[in-house]
Amino acid sequence: MTYIKIFDTTLRDGEQSPGVNLSKDEKLKIAKQLEKLGVDIIEAGFPVSSEEDFEAVKQIAKEIKGPIICGLARAVKEDIDICWEAIKYSKKPRIHTFIATSKIHMDEKLKRSPQEVIELVREMVAYAKSLCNDVEFSLEDASRTERDFMCKIIRVAIEFGATTINIPDTVGYSQPDEFKDTIKYIFDNLGDIISKNKVTISCHCHNDLGNAVANSLAAIKAGVTQVECTINGIGERAGNASLEEIVMNLITRKSYFNVETCIDISKIFETSRMVSDIAGMVVQPNKAIVGKNAFSHESGIHQDGIIKNRLTYEIINPKDVGWVGESIVIGRHSGKRAVSEFLSKSGYNFCDEDIVKITSSIKGLVDKNIVSKEDIIGIANKLKLNESKTKLI
Ligand code: MN
Repeated sequence: MTYIKIFDTTLRDGEQSPGVNLSKDEKLKIAKQLEKLGVDIIEAGFPVSSEEDFEAVKQIAKEIKGPIICGLARAVKEDIDICWEAIKYSKKPRIHTFIATSKIHMDEKLKRSPQEVIELVREMVAYAKSLCNDVEFSLEDASRTERDFMCKIIRVAIEFGATTINIPDTVGYSQPDEFKDTIKYIFDNLGDIISKNKVTISCHCHNDLGNAVANSLAAIKAGVTQVECTINGIGERAGNASLEEIVMNLITRKSYFNVETCIDISKIFETSRMVSDIAGMVVQPNKAIVGKNAFSHESGIHQDGIIKNRLTYEIINPKDVGWVGESIVIGRHSGKRAVSEFLSKSGYNFCDEDIVKITSSIKGLVDKNIVSKEDIIGIANKLKLNESKTKLI
């Protein structure tokens, strides 16, 4: 079975989320949790960006022993030097250098010709390689890069020592089948040099059109063996591909993908909450896998199915990902089966007649979205139910 390396960039791209600024201690705490989660690579930061980030990356490189510790650097000698100074303490250091390769980025941002960009790739990948054996090279804005030029750049990067080539959809513009074709094009044209040099092809997707996870999965289908992602999908603008969603797709649809990862999924929920608390970014309630509502059922038909057999409406066992929350939620959409189940789980047994009355009163509530146990007992009392009919366990 093909092994997919999970490259977590919560501490680098995730930290670039607007309004997020992690201290050295906070980054170290998250890095320790990522190690427990089982990620293969931690992109710890962008050391040239600030003194604080340099120190954080250095500390993570010193203390985290399991995963590869990676630092980001532009294809600029000074960036690469500073990156190396920070990560060299790791047992498994990686320099990740990048340059933009799309026409708009080369013309408008870099103000460099394609030939100059090729020269820079050659010089800077070779320079990174002279310091560190593990070099990743990214073609920024790859999904909007002309395909033959993209292949030319990849060939140069491999020839000069890159062992991982990353294909980012930097602006979240790509569509899944299109992105799959892009990756396929790379393997079709450069398959020999990729396999001869044992190069890992990677993807890095953004969520501007909500396609980050779908594009990452399409890339896996096309043969990438590394995915770059973040906890809760945090990142610049609309964020990056979400680690937990990618991993749970690969597991839940194992026979479809036929790949494996090293992630300990029982740590997913606690990792999500830690990142949310430290970064100060709330997880949206309906977020797949880790949202507050991800495994909650409120409507009567669904509740009835879940009580009979969870598999009717659940494709993942919430316990597997360490999810903590209320599975059956009572609200105006609930039926008497769930109300009865909810009450008996809470230690109260009412007769059928009373359950019908309580359920219809709940349906009559107009100012509550979710009804608590206390609300339900309150309703029961309000209906002046006979104490003798109510058995308190
Ligand atoms: Mn990015």
